Amino acid sequence: MNKNREFHPVANIFPTMNPDEFNDLVSDIEKNGLLESIWLDKDGVIIDGRNRYSACLKAGIEPTFRTWEGQGSLIEFVVSLNLKRRHLTASQKACVAVEVEEHLAIEAKERQKEAGKLYGENHPKEELVAKLPQPLGRSRDTAAKMVGVSGRYVSDVKRIKRQSAEIFDSVASGEITIQKANQILLKQDDPTVSNSKFNESNENIDWAKWSWNPVTGCRNGCLYCYGRSIATHYPETFPKGFDYDVHRDRFNAPRNTKIPEAKIQEEGIRNVFVCSMADLFGDWVEIEVIREILDICSNTPQWNYIFLTKNPKRLLEFEFPANSAVGTTVDVKSRVATAVEIMPQVKAPIKFISCEPLLEDLELDDLSWIDWIIIGSQTDGARIAVHPEWAWIKRLQELADSQNIPTYWKPNLYRKFKNYPKFPAA
Ligand code: SF4
Repeated sequence: MNKNREFHPVANIFPTMNPDEFNDLVSDIEKNGLLESIWLDKDGVIIDGRNRYSACLKAGIEPTFRTWEGQGSLIEFVVSLNLKRRHLTASQKACVAVEVEEHLAIEAKERQKEAGKLYGENHPKEELVAKLPQPLGRSRDTAAKMVGVSGRYVSDVKRIKRQSAEIFDSVASGEITIQKANQILLKQDDPTVSNSKFNESNENIDWAKWSWNPVTGCRNGCLYCYGRSIATHYPETFPKGFDYDVHRDRFNAPRNTKIPEAKIQEEGIRNVFVCSMADLFGDWVEIEVIREILDICSNTPQWNYIFLTKNPKRLLEFEFPANSAVGTTVDVKSRVATAVEIMPQVKAPIKFISCEPLLEDLELDDLSWIDWIIIGSQTDGARIAVHPEWAWIKRLQELADSQNIPTYWKPNLYRKFKNYPKFPAA
């Protein structure tokens, strides 16, 4: 008997049997022989039947094998076989979906490599597109559908896995449900454990009285980024510099922060700028992290949350809570078309554009999709580096006035009139 067969990584997606179940299987094989053959891939690697194979070894019975020669997805085949045979709870299935998603990502990368090899060999475009990897959101939903649970359930388990590998293992093995895991984590997440609070903001973002950075770091690479300078200057606070980082210890800040009694009537005192030190909707931020932050916002209605991105297409993946305002930066003409196309489709109660820094004369026209406009200069620390031309501001303000759109002029926006009357020529 060949005792050295390898297990394909896909075979490890499903949890192994517990010792009692395994001993029952050994006894059954001793009594009745192996009733269901073990599946191999074309290289002789086990893709399904780890437990049966090990039980055969233990029982001293020669296993029988079948080879999978399907053209479709190996992952889908293995998942389908196991779901028919195993009795998994919904929580366990969601754990399986998380593993499936990871394997789908690997499969997608392999397809991408193949597509890369084909590229330039005059293959039809459809063939190349079919081989490209799926976007993150879609692979999560594909995995969820494959195992028969909701995408939301899968996101829950991914978060649990990120927070505690140990608790994830307990869910995967069927010891506890997702709900129980959430209860355990909620206790660990007690605000008394992490006492982080919002930061009071300064002039740079005076339209929000607070800033909250559950995520920091950004790969957009804007030349005028003040976040990057801050992160570089304070390595102790930003040990990863301006690289993407998730700060789970700050997730409690909305619950820990209280508005000082004396300021409770102040206009805008409930406004929180989410991620002044990042672009939360950058393509590199995991969808689950964003969803978790949006959930926190929706569960703390005492605050108004303001989101701003330079990647507006990503906003379409979410439904924003009732206490949020969502905007995109339109600093140069080339961002206008994308904003006009995307922002009307964003599901948010308040939508805005931030023209800060206003670097060009923007060609905007119909503003019916906007609820608010911020206008500002380019600064370098406290210094105004580039002030927009007055004509640009005037045009934007007049357009906003004509359509009743409120504007917010940043303190870094000013004009000192120093014109002279025309004196008669000497
Ligand atoms: S999007 Fe914002 S955080 Fe990111 S580099 Fe640009 S200015 Fe900095």
